Amino acid sequence: MKSEASPATARMEVPLLDLKAQYRGLKDQILPAIEEVCASQHFILGPHVKDLENSVADYSQAAHGIGMSSGTDALLVALMALEVGHGDEVITTPYTFFATGGTVARVGARPVFCDIDPQTYNLSARMVQNFIDEHCDFRDGRLINRVTGGHVKVLLPVHLYGQMADMQPLMDIARQFNLKVIEDAAQAIGAEYPAADGSGPRRAGSIGDIGCFSFFPSKNLGAFGDGGMCTANDDTLAGTLRIMRVHGGKPKYYHAVIGGNFRLDALQAAVLKIKLAHLDDWTAARQRNAAFYDQAFVAAGLTDRITTPVAMKGYRHIYNQYVIRVPDRDKLRAHLADSKIGTEIYYPVPLHEQECFAHLGYREGDCLESSRAARETLALPVYPELSQEQLQYVVDTIAGFYA
Ligand SMILES: *Cc1c(COP(=O)(O)O)cnc(C)c1O
Repeated sequence: MKSEASPATARMEVPLLDLKAQYRGLKDQILPAIEEVCASQHFILGPHVKDLENSVADYSQAAHGIGMSSGTDALLVALMALEVGHGDEVITTPYTFFATGGTVARVGARPVFCDIDPQTYNLSARMVQNFIDEHCDFRDGRLINRVTGGHVKVLLPVHLYGQMADMQPLMDIARQFNLKVIEDAAQAIGAEYPAADGSGPRRAGSIGDIGCFSFFPSKNLGAFGDGGMCTANDDTLAGTLRIMRVHGGKPKYYHAVIGGNFRLDALQAAVLKIKLAHLDDWTAARQRNAAFYDQAFVAAGLTDRITTPVAMKGYRHIYNQYVIRVPDRDKLRAHLADSKIGTEIYYPVPLHEQECFAHLGYREGDCLESSRAARETLALPVYPELSQEQLQYVVDTIAGFYA
């Protein structure tokens, strides 16, 4: 409805993400912190990294935090620490960022893709159970894929868009079949899952054996470059992750195991520590923006065309993304781009359909809900600094498209 746009909205632009707004507010704190690290010339690990590890572990209700060079490396080291390799299999979701499946393949293991819950887009425990019932035997405490002969060792749910996967039934399956659990919490720092026993909500990264976080700039807690972290509650496992991060050397230059260089920089840790203090405010702003959209789509009478995100009862959704499901997604996206509104598709090709995984033998029709989500979902701008005028402009522009 461009013809109805006021002169003000005609000039409006709404990028998918604008990190400059956040930086403007924090510059006076961040620059001195960077200077301090530069003055110390201590760039690798050290007190800033240790401090951030403790803070992120506390924030995430986990006993240990181990800083890593990226979210991808956090996943890679987690798999290495759990000794996942050739002949092993990892059950995960195909509807995720590539790194989730990519790291499994990189350690030589086989990703097993089970479909998502269409409401939350997260790994469906029911689909995992179906896979185990139909394809696996449980022998001598090991879950064996009858078709490949592989040992299914790990369950790797992803907390997509900032809302946790339904962990209770997944943990029940893991306990029953001796599976380790890695939570891909790259999009979900501070997200919460309601405990069934009433013991209070549990945060992302505190439920499974290892939690993996990303500080990629577009995540809710973003560094000035790449960064990541593993969390763990088990002391021994945390120790292994720490050793794996420095080539597996302990003491230095003595290698019982093979690790790699997966260290987090002191500069990134210093920046992240400052930002962490603001994370709850940013989350609240993202939640306000999400609530604004939810309500405005109702007010605009769009709910028969647009499926808004489902925030599960008792969960804390941190809205790393606000993702709608719509008909004519690609045309809507082009219309929004014409109106200077940034959007993104997370993700256009589910992992079971990726060319590099063709050898796994998935066929069209496997993981139907993931394929459908890849065709129908669209992420709208939801970052904390958006104004109500910008949010309303997005809604009005979408209304114009469907009018
Ligand atoms: C961002 C992301 C990763 C990878 O994190 P990087 O820090 O970019 O390596 C892994 N999994 C998911 C779900 C992500 O969103």
